Amino acid sequence: MDTVKKDKLLSLIVPVYNEEEVLPISYEKMNEAMANLGYRYEIIYVNDGSRDGSMKILRSIAKDNPHVKVRSFSRNFGHQTAVTCGMDAAKGDALIIIDVDLQDPPEVIADMVKAWENGADIAYGKRLKRKGETVFKKLTAFAYYRILRAMSAYPIPLDTGDFRLLDRKVADVFLKMREHNRFLRGMSGWMGFEAVPVEYVRNERYAGKTKYTLKKMLRLASDGIIGFSDRPLTLCGEFGIGLFVLDVLGLIALIVLACCNVAFPSWLWALCGVVGIQAAALLFMAMQGMYLNRIYDEVKARPLYIVAEDINL
Ligand code: UDP
Ligand code: MG
Repeated sequence: MDTVKKDKLLSLIVPVYNEEEVLPISYEKMNEAMANLGYRYEIIYVNDGSRDGSMKILRSIAKDNPHVKVRSFSRNFGHQTAVTCGMDAAKGDALIIIDVDLQDPPEVIADMVKAWENGADIAYGKRLKRKGETVFKKLTAFAYYRILRAMSAYPIPLDTGDFRLLDRKVADVFLKMREHNRFLRGMSGWMGFEAVPVEYVRNERYAGKTKYTLKKMLRLASDGIIGFSDRPLTLCGEFGIGLFVLDVLGLIALIVLACCNVAFPSWLWALCGVVGIQAAALLFMAMQGMYLNRIYDEVKARPLYIVAEDINL
C-alpha cells in the first residue's frame, strides 16, 4: 500500500444502547484519541433505540463538535445492525469499530492505525485478557470461540470481538453483504484480506451494565455458527451413516447366529428393521439439509469472489 497520507479520513463507529452513564467520558476519551492521530476524522454514533438519556447527550455532543455525527434508530435493532448502519454512513478511508463502554481501550486505535499504515487491510483487536467480566462470560466466550473455530470453514481468529479497523476497500465489500443475521467477525474472516492482530487487554466496563442480555448473546452465538458453518447439517448425515453401519453389522451378526443355529430372541430382527428405518430417515434429512444449505447460501447473496488487487486490468 502507498504510504498513507495524513489528509486521509478516519471514521470511528460507536454503537450506543442505553449508555448515558458512560457516554460523556467515553466521548472525551475517544475524541482525544482520534484528534491525536493527526488525521481528519469523524465519530459516528449509532443510537440503537436507547430509552434513557443517551440521545440527549449525543445531541449536545454533536452540537459542539462538527466531527461528531449521529444516526438514531426508531427502536432497538441490535449491536451488529447498529455497527453496519454506522459503516453505511461512514465516509472514511479506514473505519474503526469500537464499543462505547471503554472496554475496548481508545489508545489501541493508534496501534490499529499504525498496522493500517504498514499495509494491513484489517487490524483486529485480540484480547490478551478480559478484566472485570463474570466467570460465566469468560468461560462461555473461551469455549465458544474454540467451538466456532473448529466448526467454521473460514478462519475466525480466537478471542476477537468486533473491535477492529477495516480499510475502505474491505468495508466496501463488507457493505455489499446485506444478510440479516449478521455476525461481523465471521463476515470479516470470510472476506479474507490481510488481517493483522493488535493485542490488548480488555478493560472492565467503565459504567453501567452489559447491554448484551443472555438472549442476545445466544442469538449472536447461533448467528455465528449457523452463518459460517454447515456442520450442524452435515452432522445429521454422519450420524445416519454411523447408525446404518451399526445396523448392517447387527444384521450380519444375526444372520451368522441364525446360520449357526444359535438361539436369540426374534425381536432382534425387528430391532434391526427399526434402526434401519431410523438411519434411512436421518440420511434423507441430511439430503434435505444439503438443499436447504444451498438455498441459504443463495439467499445470503454474498459476493461470488472478492478481488484484493488487479494488475494491468
Ligand atoms: N449495543 C447496541 N445494541 C444492543 C446491545 C449493545 O448498540 O442491543 C452496544 C453497546 O452500547 C456497546 C456495544 O454494543 O457499545 C457492546 O455492548 P455491551 O458492552 O453491553 O456488550 P458486552 O461488552 O457486555 O459483550
Ligand atoms: Mg461491553
